[in-house]
Amino acid sequence: MSATRCVVFEQPGGPEVLQLVQRDVGEPGPGQVRIRHHACGLNYIDIYQRSGVYPLPLPHVLGMEGAGVIEALGEGVTHLALGDRVAYASAPPGAYCDARVMAAAQVCRLPDSLDFRTGAAMMLQGLTVQYLFHRTVPLKAGDTVLFHAAAGGVGLIACQWAKALGIRLIGTAGTDAKCALALELGAEAAINYEREDFVARVRELTDGRGVDVVMDSIGAATFERSLDCLRPLGMMISFGNASGKVPPFDLGVLGAKGSLHLTRPTLFTHIADHATCQTMAAQLFEMVESGKVAIRIGQDFALEEVAEAHSQMEARATTGSSVLIC
Ligand code: NDP
Repeated sequence: MSATRCVVFEQPGGPEVLQLVQRDVGEPGPGQVRIRHHACGLNYIDIYQRSGVYPLPLPHVLGMEGAGVIEALGEGVTHLALGDRVAYASAPPGAYCDARVMAAAQVCRLPDSLDFRTGAAMMLQGLTVQYLFHRTVPLKAGDTVLFHAAAGGVGLIACQWAKALGIRLIGTAGTDAKCALALELGAEAAINYEREDFVARVRELTDGRGVDVVMDSIGAATFERSLDCLRPLGMMISFGNASGKVPPFDLGVLGAKGSLHLTRPTLFTHIADHATCQTMAAQLFEMVESGKVAIRIGQDFALEEVAEAHSQMEARATTGSSVLIC
């Protein structure tokens, strides 16, 4: 049995509740593997879990994503071998560590051309973009999508994915520099929603019609106004709450604003099935290896700098993806 450093928290709170401790790593049971991490991914969901927006049984190790090498295999695992380079996004949390034992089903072999940092940065955010664009609503070339936080981790992948599919993505972001980044990576237009009325700008950009789909991960601060950006019968995909949870609202609003559709998906439903997860990952790897999508790691941190990493994400000071190096 070997020891690992891992990041645990015992009570919900700010970044200061995160503690680096030593724990033993066990042997994998049936259907499990032990992975020695080289890097793990930072995601906004980690902040919801740490702060108590998404409660976890405590104490708990954080982290939903990592990349490394298989160092032990449990019974019945057939799609992986000892020494394989792998990457994953997976529940339950536990990835902020040097090594862990976990279910093998969502662990994917990492193509040789992709390094561990990229693997750790791309799985959760890239698989999210895959399901948003391919598994949530039928989208085709020429459709228009309003995508909030377009310079963030999910956002920069979405800008490039949309461009590759011929989808017209209008991005929003909190600074002019972030808007410029979204445009550079494929957004057709970018709106600084801190100083511009994004509803009015979307109407202008779509000749008054509204967009086909809104992908809104901001939540409370944007939800109602996002509905005002949709064309009649358009689709609202509410998939996050960086500004706070969307308060309960009157469903009749959907009718009044044009018989709108609304869904509130989560990646973990889409990747629950092993075969589906592996197929989604194969498409993500193809997008990255072909150069259609570049994974932009805006900042990386040592595992012991995890509290600083969380502070920067919450302060909206990051762009692209963020990783912890083990
Ligand atoms: P990001 O890198 O996009 O960081 C969040 C961004 O949200 C910030 O950089 C900021 O960009 C924007 N933001 C707007 N208002 C606030 C606020 N009040 N506080 C903090 N940030 C704010 O994170 P991720 O790429 O990891 O995730 C993006 C979103 O997608 C998150 O909400 C996440 O929970 C969600 N998500 C949902 C999934 C699902 O399956 N449901 C899966 C993966 C992610 P700016 O300054 O430009 O406004």
